[in-house]
Amino acid sequence: MKEPFQKALGIIQTLQQHGYEAYFVGGAVRDLLLNREIGDIDIATSALPDEVMQLFPKTIDIGSQHGTVVVVHNGISYEVTTFRTESEYEDYRRPGAVTFVRSLYEDLQRRDFTMNAIAMDAEGKLIDPFGGQEAIANRIICTVGDPKARFSEDALRMMRAIRFVGQLGFSLDEETKQAIIENAALLAHISVERMTMEFEKLLEGPFASRALSLLVETGLFLYLPMLRDKENELQAAARYNWRLLDSRGQRWGFLCYILCIDSAADFLRAWKLPNRLIKEVEMALRILQTIPSSSDWTKERLFEFGLEHAIAAETIRSVASGENVEEHRKKLNELFMSLPIKTKKELAVSGNDIMKWFGKPGGPWVKEILTLIERAVIHGEVDNHKERIHEWLIHRNLIRGENC
Ligand code: ATP
Ligand code: MG
Repeated sequence: MKEPFQKALGIIQTLQQHGYEAYFVGGAVRDLLLNREIGDIDIATSALPDEVMQLFPKTIDIGSQHGTVVVVHNGISYEVTTFRTESEYEDYRRPGAVTFVRSLYEDLQRRDFTMNAIAMDAEGKLIDPFGGQEAIANRIICTVGDPKARFSEDALRMMRAIRFVGQLGFSLDEETKQAIIENAALLAHISVERMTMEFEKLLEGPFASRALSLLVETGLFLYLPMLRDKENELQAAARYNWRLLDSRGQRWGFLCYILCIDSAADFLRAWKLPNRLIKEVEMALRILQTIPSSSDWTKERLFEFGLEHAIAAETIRSVASGENVEEHRKKLNELFMSLPIKTKKELAVSGNDIMKWFGKPGGPWVKEILTLIERAVIHGEVDNHKERIHEWLIHRNLIRGENC
């Protein structure tokens, strides 16, 4: 058994020793079969949440009313969820209440796709009542049971189907795809936060382009925040190499850029993204406006914007123009390495030094002088050394020697 499963085995064994059933389930089993990196390991059990909490010394109740308890085992957290069905769906969303059941079969039956409805026992034996292994072998995403029924129970599953396309490069089963087309409008009932989570995973996946095309083809894009009138732009966005974008900020920045979004802040707020990320994207987009071409970078500008923002902006620009991303990043890195100081903090003189040397009280002028010095240091006119800077100021007749 692979190491991540091995580490969690003790939980399954303890549950079994106390007469309960317990299995590995969901994404980890799927990823094992796909030879993908194993993410979080989830466990399903016939034990009720209270029973789980009594058996293990370190547990966290993260939603026992829905059946989930976190068990901390050898320093790692595992979600242990009681076999359950989700019978009472409200408004096309996940249920407010769940029913605990004692059978694994029913628990697997409530899961979204056949590839996600495989369980594995402590010996590594697979329990696969819905043909999950076959779907994985054929690289097909197919709902457990009637797709129309499953999507009207929980409309988020439609977004999940397409994010799995983005991550795994699988195809949608034809009936599953038709059901998405017919039920796309139900996505309007889903909270933005849940959609955003799936959309981000979609963009991050190696097959993001294919998934973006499917968002358009199925009509799901019509119900995603601020994308309703961006059909052509989204279609165009699907033609770029998203794999080259390697941070959240770059991906959202690229999306705003390629979709010609007027206000990135409004757009990203509609997706309920955090302010820090919004600021990061705004900065990259501002750079693209300020610096019209990648050959326009100067030491001063790079110092001003910082390497990370500069790289984000140039990555967005080169992915959009089909230029060599690595080459632009390398150039920026080299220019940055050639800067005598990388941040304002590294300047060898402070505002206090300036006030002392000039013999004047503080004011906006201090910042102006510091900026002047900063530029001189960046361009190598003066060493970043206190005495050299002092001499340089004297030499430029900005201060007189006796004031030091
Ligand atoms: P990832 O590797 O991205 O975590 P995952 O398959 O583990 O993918 P999770 O969101 O962690 O996805 O969900 C864990 C499991 O719970 C899924 O594999 C699936 O069996 C089930 N599941 C999750 N969301 C739903 C849903 N909306 N409807 C039905 N089953 C779901
Ligand atoms: Mg998971």
